Amino acid sequence: MEALENRVQPYAWGSLTAIPSLLGQPPTGSPQAELWLGAHPSAPSTLGNGVTLDSLLATSPGTLLGPKVLARFGPRLPFLLKVLAAAQPLSLQAHPTLAQAKAGYAKEEAADVPRSAPHRNYKDDNHKPEIICALTDFHALCGFRRVADSVRLFKGLGLDTSVLEQHGLRGYFEHVMTLPPSARGALVDQLVDASRSPVPGFEAECLLAQRLSTAYPRDIGIVGALLLNLVILKPGEALYLDAGNLHAYLEGTGIELMANSDNVLRGGLTPKHVDVPELLSVLDFRDGPPHVLRPEGEGEATYPTPAPDFRLSRLTLDGERTLPPGLPQILLVTEGSFEAQGQSFGRGRSVFIGADETVTLRGQATIFRATPGL
Ligand SMILES: [Zn+2]
Repeated sequence: MEALENRVQPYAWGSLTAIPSLLGQPPTGSPQAELWLGAHPSAPSTLGNGVTLDSLLATSPGTLLGPKVLARFGPRLPFLLKVLAAAQPLSLQAHPTLAQAKAGYAKEEAADVPRSAPHRNYKDDNHKPEIICALTDFHALCGFRRVADSVRLFKGLGLDTSVLEQHGLRGYFEHVMTLPPSARGALVDQLVDASRSPVPGFEAECLLAQRLSTAYPRDIGIVGALLLNLVILKPGEALYLDAGNLHAYLEGTGIELMANSDNVLRGGLTPKHVDVPELLSVLDFRDGPPHVLRPEGEGEATYPTPAPDFRLSRLTLDGERTLPPGLPQILLVTEGSFEAQGQSFGRGRSVFIGADETVTLRGQATIFRATPGL
């Protein structure tokens, strides 16, 4: 078992206070958007002796990752755990399937697109399913709202819904995203102006349009955002974002667990590159309400997902609990403290446990536990 020191990502949308408060540190005055716990080469966690977790895993992958992970994923930790603290909306985005990621990556490699180029879509050849579990009320956009409801909202805003009604979500989304820039700006202006008089039943969505317009003036992503389900997770509730799901995190603090990948295709609400044809090729246009995951089970509550790369659970430790060997895992304490192997770990502390270790925890604590989903 190794205590971890984790890297903070200072993205501009981050909260000034949430991550410092979890870590028991004073705010620095700069945004702290994400805390990364894992072995991702661009910001790996480090151990007490300064060695990074990815280099430790490379020294004895068989022992630390275990035979199951080695056979399925090769010599790397298949997941990345994050604390995400959003004060401002993040970009509208979707992630590819494994097959799409492999094909897209191979194509860009063959075309010699530098991996750091701003217009590069596929940074690696992996898929990136993810789960977000709320620590505070957490606002997000997730998947397309039922078309009939979007037609009602857009009609209420005085927008032309004929393309949406005749050609469905794919046809309408493609139409909007490929409008000439001047027509796009005019459409966003019309929507944002109309949203000042809230449409009955869609008051929160209309407020959101105002807010997005302040953060991203005239961004066509505002139209896309208003086609999605607006969800407010209560602490402990979670969303699973599978390949093709169009989503955006808006505000709040959560625990995020994902496959070890950086493949993001954006659809707006960002100054970054938006590749419309590539985005359209991965999007899942099925409509309907989002599936909110609630923890299942006492003591160790799990959030079941189909992803083999990861499994998230929340341990409520009250006394003693032994974690069996077999898979590598990362634990993060969000409340209380536990003691193991003669060391004490309080709120904000985290550890890596190798696949060969049996560890007994003692104490009173809420602990998020990440393992592969095998
Ligand atoms: Zn995402």
